[in-house]
Amino acid sequence: MAAARRSLAAKFVVVGGGIAGVTCAEQLATHFPSEEVLLITASPVIKAITNFKQVSKTLEEFDVEEQPSSVLEKHFPNIKVLESRVKQLKATEHCILTEDGNQYKYEKLCLCAGAKPKLISEGNPYVLGIRDTDSAQEFQKQLMKAKRITIVGNGGIALELVYEIEGCEVIWAIKDKAIGNAFFDAGAAEFLTTKLTSKKSEAKITCKRTRYTIEESEKEASDINNAANLGSALGPDWHEGLNLKGTKEFSHKVHIETICEIKKIYHQEEFKQLKKRSLTFPTDCQDESADKDTWPVYIELTNEKIYGCDFIVSATGVMPNVEPFLDGNNFMLDEDGGLKVDDHMRTSLPNIYAAGDICTASWQPSPVWQQMRLWTQARQMGNYAAKCMAADTVGDSIDMDFCFELFAHVTKFFNYKVVLLGKYNAQGLGLDHELMLRCTKGQEYVKVVMQNGRMMGAILIGETDLEETFENLILNQMNLSAYGEDLLDPNIDIEDYFD
Ligand SMILES: Cc1cc2nc3c(=O)[nH]c(=O)nc-3n(C[C@H](O)[C@H](O)[C@H](O)COP(=O)(O)OP(=O)(O)OC[C@H]3O[C@@H](n4cnc5c(N)ncnc54)[C@H](O)[C@@H]3O)c2cc1C
Repeated sequence: MAAARRSLAAKFVVVGGGIAGVTCAEQLATHFPSEEVLLITASPVIKAITNFKQVSKTLEEFDVEEQPSSVLEKHFPNIKVLESRVKQLKATEHCILTEDGNQYKYEKLCLCAGAKPKLISEGNPYVLGIRDTDSAQEFQKQLMKAKRITIVGNGGIALELVYEIEGCEVIWAIKDKAIGNAFFDAGAAEFLTTKLTSKKSEAKITCKRTRYTIEESEKEASDINNAANLGSALGPDWHEGLNLKGTKEFSHKVHIETICEIKKIYHQEEFKQLKKRSLTFPTDCQDESADKDTWPVYIELTNEKIYGCDFIVSATGVMPNVEPFLDGNNFMLDEDGGLKVDDHMRTSLPNIYAAGDICTASWQPSPVWQQMRLWTQARQMGNYAAKCMAADTVGDSIDMDFCFELFAHVTKFFNYKVVLLGKYNAQGLGLDHELMLRCTKGQEYVKVVMQNGRMMGAILIGETDLEETFENLILNQMNLSAYGEDLLDPNIDIEDYFD
């Protein structure tokens, strides 16, 4: 092995310039103004949170900006950002080695290296995964030439893509019965699906976030898979800056294939040789028939249908990016591949903490909280990990942060405001729960999950104005049996009830 070119030591070292790592470094730098905090990251830009707004006790909103690391160093003079990929962690020696041949000693380390997209097929040039600005731009470039694409996956990324893409036929293959399985029940999915078949007329919500992207000349030409592995994940309104338009002049043209997965991908030549038959894009007025067009790539689904397309977007979730840290270290990993962390964000190895997408919360959670690999939780975990590192350094005790009391997430799907609270999909509640619904087509969808008269979760789609009241009802676990269906009666001002 080449000798280390530089050896630096710091009390605190953070790996990863995404939201978790940057928030952790900022918090440490504030706690210990006279200590130097080293932030080591593989990407040339870091992610910064701006316009942070605590909307209610647990709901928060913010913008995410990509910034050059110099901006962070200017705001926090005791943070030093080093751009290089960590290639090895020597936990027993309290030392990490980077690809540029340097080594860094730490007293306390926080690993925030995020997650990698799970690609349905590695190294296939027709399969794109979207993770960071580079891969999103590559996607946009390909889309401009495309007549038809296939999207595989049913999470947040797929949901946003199918709604945003215009002028290109989209075959959307999902393994569940309904869209957005991670976020919605079948009712909410149905409410949203109608939006896909209607014309997009609303004015786009203006995007406050400005993006800094490095100049083309500054970046090394990196292939898309490589970019996806290194960069940090995009921000909440990641598609806003991109023109997601294909070659045709129509708005949505989405065909959803449910309860299926990709069985096989054929390149054009292979497809021709095998003399397989693909189907035309299904429309309301026309049954699927043999497709006469030739396509660069073909997908065969587990329901035996075959479609041709220009390329495939793999949006099938992420895998914690633990690999660079495992060699020689006996970390406890969760089934999902994440580094297990306890209620102090500590991994199973001494003085090593983890936060954000890379970790799996392995403490006994509040009955109405669950981990989801989202922006909000990356920020909250990064922030709390730093507080724990600080408390452990000076020997203080620390209570679990209040943000882990209730799962709360606000986002936008299909241009609707979507608020998810607690066990919004009755996750883990078994059969012993009931649902209450209120729905006005095209306007709002409200669902609450009740158990033993207590509210355990809610989905609010549209401008319902119910989030604060429901947040309080879930947090205080008041017995609501007496209110029955009044709880969702639009003619009753529920806020007045519980003031
Ligand atoms: C396309 C897309 C859309 C999304 N949309 C939303 C959304 O609307 N709302 C939402 O809440 N969440 C969304 N997410 C999820 C969200 O982006 C992630 O949960 C969040 O970014 C995780 O933050 P993180 O800091 O843990 O990791 P990341 O942001 O992934 O940052 C990881 C950092 O580690 C660095 N790194 C990686 N490996 C190494 C190494 N070996 N050495 C040094 N540095 C390394 C990377 O360069 C990067 O800086 C989306 C994700 C994607 C991919």
